[in-house]
Amino acid sequence: MAKILILGGGFGGLITAERLATALAGEHEITLVAPTRRFTFYPALVRLAFGDLNPEDITFDLTEKLSTIGVRFVQGEMLDIDAANKTVNIAGEDVTGKLHYDFLVIATGRRLGTELVPGFFEYSHHLLGTGAALKFGASASNFRQGRIVVGLCPEGRLPVPVCEAAFALAKRFKAEIEAGEIHISVIFPESLSAAFGGAALHKELEAAFARNHINVHYDIPISEITADHVHSSSGHKIDYDLLMLVPPFRGNAAFRSEGIVDEADFIRVNGLMKVAGIENAYAVGDIVAFSGPKFAHMAVRQAEVAAANLVAELNEETPERSYYHEIATVIDADGPDSIYLHYGIWDDSMYRLKKGRLWGWAKEAHDAWWQTRNL
Ligand SMILES: Cc1cc2nc3c(=O)[nH]c(=O)nc-3n(C[C@H](O)[C@H](O)[C@H](O)COP(=O)(O)OP(=O)(O)OC[C@H]3O[C@@H](n4cnc5c(N)ncnc54)[C@H](O)[C@@H]3O)c2cc1C
Repeated sequence: MAKILILGGGFGGLITAERLATALAGEHEITLVAPTRRFTFYPALVRLAFGDLNPEDITFDLTEKLSTIGVRFVQGEMLDIDAANKTVNIAGEDVTGKLHYDFLVIATGRRLGTELVPGFFEYSHHLLGTGAALKFGASASNFRQGRIVVGLCPEGRLPVPVCEAAFALAKRFKAEIEAGEIHISVIFPESLSAAFGGAALHKELEAAFARNHINVHYDIPISEITADHVHSSSGHKIDYDLLMLVPPFRGNAAFRSEGIVDEADFIRVNGLMKVAGIENAYAVGDIVAFSGPKFAHMAVRQAEVAAANLVAELNEETPERSYYHEIATVIDADGPDSIYLHYGIWDDSMYRLKKGRLWGWAKEAHDAWWQTRNL
C-alpha cells in the first residue's frame, strides 16, 4: 500500500484527493495536510465583500468532505520537505514531526508578498480571504465621498477580482459617481492584455469600464503606498481615499533547499505536472511556475492531470496525461457587461470572448453548484 501525501486543501489539493480516492478505491493511503479545516471558495469573495453572500455560504468543512471519500485529514502546516528521504516536516494541531510519503502532491497555493510593496500592509485593503474581503466591504459601505482606487501590484496574478470589485463599486455608488462625488479608478502594472496572459479583451473590458464611469490606467507598476498616495516605479503619484489592491504573488521559500523553485519560489513542473528535479512528486495550482494569471479552473485541471498520472505510476504504467495552459473565466459585471473569456496562454489562436448578463448568472450558478456539491 503506497502512502500518498497531499499538501494543501484548496482547489488543487481537494480535487487531487477526490480524483485519487475515486480511482484508487481504498487501495492506497491518502492523507491531506492543511493548516485550516475550512475550504474557501475564493471566486465568490467579491460577492461576499459586497454583502451578497455570508462567510458560511462560501466556506465548508474539509474534514467532513474528506472523511466521506476515505481521505485522512491532518491539520498542520508543511515546514519543509526532504525529497531524498521522502519526508515532510509538519507542525500543527494533529501532527508535529515528519510524515513519510511514497508520492507527494504539492498544492499549497500562493503567498501574498505584501512586504514587497512598502505601505501595503498599513494602507491597502485586499480581497484574498474572507476576513480581508469583509473588512474591505465594511470600508466601502462606510465610504461617502472621494477617490476609490482598485488595482493589481506588479506580479499580482489575479485580474478578475480587481475588475469585479470595480464593477461592484460602480453599481453601489452609481448616484454618487453621476453627481461627481465619487470617482473610481482601476490600475494595472502593464497592459490589460498582459494582466490576462496575452488575451485581447481590452476593447470589451474598456467599453464596460467606460459605461460604468470607471477610469482605467495602464503601466502603473506600484512600488510604494503612503497614507493617501499610491506611488509607482515610473514616477506616478495617485491619490486615493479608499484603496484595494492585489499584492505581488510569491510561491513558498521552504522549497528552495530542494532546488525545485524559480526566482519567485514557484515550483517548476513538466507538462505531466511532475516536479522537475525530485522523484515521485507532483505540484498543482497557484504554487506552480506557469506564466500568466492564476485561476481556480487551472488548479482543478492540473489536479486532474496529476491524479491521472499518479494513478498510472501506481499501476506501473507510463504517465501520459498532459496539461494545457488556458484561461476560461467569467468577469461578472453584475449585468450585460459580464464577459466570458476562453484563451490559450500557450496558443493564442484559441480565443473566444462572449458578453452578456448570462455570464454573470452562469458564474453565480457555478458558485452555488460548488457550495452544494461540497456540503
Ligand atoms: C478574490 C479572488 C477571486 C478569484 N476569482 C477567480 C475566478 O473568478 N475564477 C477563477 O478561476 N479563479 C479565481 N480566483 C483564483 C483561485 O481562487 C485560485 O487560483 C485557486 O484558489 C488556487 O487553488 P490552489 O489549490 O492552488 O490554492 P488555494 O486555493 O490557495 O489553496 C492552498 C491550500 O494550501 C494550504 N497551505 C498553504 N500553505 C501551506 C503549508 N505550508 N502547508 C500545508 N498547507 C498549506 C492553504 O491553507 C490552502 O488550503 C480568485 C481568487 C481570489 C482570491
